[in-house]
Formats: sequence, C-alpha cells, structure tokens
Amino acid sequence: MDSETLSWSLFARYVPAYGKPIEGMDIALFRALPETIWFFFQEDRLLTASGTNVVGIGYDAHAVGNHSLPLGGNVLDWVESVTAVHPLGTFDGHPCCAVQAAADSDRREPGSDGFWTGVPDGFHWQPLREVIPTLDGDAGFLAGRALQILNWRRNNQFCGRCGTEMEPRADERAMACPKCGFLQYPRLSPAIIVAVTRGDALLLAHGNHFPAGMYSIVAGFVEPGETFEDCISREVQEEIGIRVKDIRYLSSQPWPFPDSLMVGFTAEWASGGIQVDGVEIGDAKWYTREAMPSIPGPHSIAGRIIRKWLNGPL
Ligand SMILES: [Zn+2]
Repeated sequence: MDSETLSWSLFARYVPAYGKPIEGMDIALFRALPETIWFFFQEDRLLTASGTNVVGIGYDAHAVGNHSLPLGGNVLDWVESVTAVHPLGTFDGHPCCAVQAAADSDRREPGSDGFWTGVPDGFHWQPLREVIPTLDGDAGFLAGRALQILNWRRNNQFCGRCGTEMEPRADERAMACPKCGFLQYPRLSPAIIVAVTRGDALLLAHGNHFPAGMYSIVAGFVEPGETFEDCISREVQEEIGIRVKDIRYLSSQPWPFPDSLMVGFTAEWASGGIQVDGVEIGDAKWYTREAMPSIPGPHSIAGRIIRKWLNGPL
C-alpha cells in the first residue's frame, strides 16, 4: 500500500468471486491447474518465497511485494494434509485460492512426483503478521481475507446452536446447519481508532500491552448497540477521562488478527483533564509535532494517521 495515503483498497488487482469450498478427493482436481495463485496457510503462517526473483527455485511463483506466492497445482503435493480449498476469485488475472494445511504437515513421504519431501528450498512458512508489512497493499489485504476465511471455516465446523455438523452453502460464503437452519457468516469485529487533537497537540496514549516507550492514538472495539461515535465517546472517556466533540471519519483498514475492521476518525477535545484508567492505558499526554515519542509503524492505520497529522492538520 502507498505509505503516503490513508486510502487503499483490496480491489486494486483482485476481483472477488465466491466458490463453494472444495473438500475431500476433489482437491486433487487442483493439481492439474498451472495458473492458480495459492494463499497457503499452516495455522497463521503463510507459505511464501522470499524476494521476487524466484529463478532457480524450480517452481513457479507470483511476486507480491517483497515475497512471492506459489503458483500452480504442485503446491498441493508439498504437504501431507490439505483439508479444503476455498476459491477466492482472481488476482492479477490468475485464479486464487485459500488453502489450509494442518500444523506441521510438511510432506515427509514421496509425493505424487515420486521424490518430494517438505516444501522446496526458497519457500517458507512465515507468520502473516510478519509478512503483511512487506506485501503489496492489496496482496496483504487478500492474504488477510484468506486467513480469516480459513479460520472462520475451521471455527464453525459445528452449529453453535444445536451442535450438528455445519455445511458450506453453495451460493454464498456462509456455513449452514442442516438441522436447525442456523447460518454463520465470516465474523468481523469493528473497532474505532481516533486521533484526538487539542489545538496543535495530539493525544497519544501508552497501552499497557505496547512495547516500552511506544505511544499511539486511542482505539477500542465497538460494543453491541453503539454507533461509531458512541464508541469513540465511551472509549476516550473510559480510558483517558476526557470528553470529545466534532467526530469526523477518516479512513478504515481491515486487520485480520483475528477479525478486526479498524475505522479511523478525528475528534476535538471538548472538556476534562487526562486521567488514565491504569488498566488498559498506563499513560497519556498531549504531544506537539516537535516532541514526539515512539509511534507505530507505517503499515498500521494508527501509524498512518499519526504520520499524516505530523504533516499538517487532519
Ligand atoms: Zn443447528
């Protein structure tokens, strides 16, 4: 994604489509497809080749930022156990799929090519959280989408209402209970993130789970029944002790760990003095552009909003 902007999109090179997940013996059909791009996961680890120069690996790969994704059906031979293939649509004109392997499933026996063991040299399983900042923006969002779909499928094998085994629907991305009809769609958890300003100062807080010395803008999950504006007012008052006004929307960013949608806003200080809750927030101050603490990196919406403010009023 462009590091200078607050607007980006999953759909720069990706065309979405729903395909019913392929399970069981039918997975073998994908072995014959040479043009498919694979978002292949073990738990939260994505299979990538480092770098974009994949000559010498001996397998096709598709460059996405500083990494390359496996291309072609032989990727399915690299692990022992593939449970499902989820068609996602097309990326750069290639069909693309999310696929999950069991943890520690690297093949140790000869594959269908007769000799293979494990993933080829040059490919690695890397935590998506570490890989995302190095991917092209839309590739990173699509990798996040793939991981969320796989986790959603894995977490909804049985009906939460009656316990019957769930089945994927043919016409939309939903798990359905054949007994009671309960439907489960991929879950999203919206969260607000807000840059509160007072004159030329920005409110930055140190969360108790942050690295030492790092400060960021206030964030929190939306609770049932709240508007975004309600959530901002409550979170800022609970965590910092002040009231805000003039709330304006800025931008949003999906965050797949595990299923957040960060929705960014600005607000103005209205009243009250800083009094942190001491539980989630250990410290908070008004910072001017001349004396800033350590802030989050530019791949997060928090880091981007703060950097935009450093360049001028939001
Ligand atoms: Zn049910």
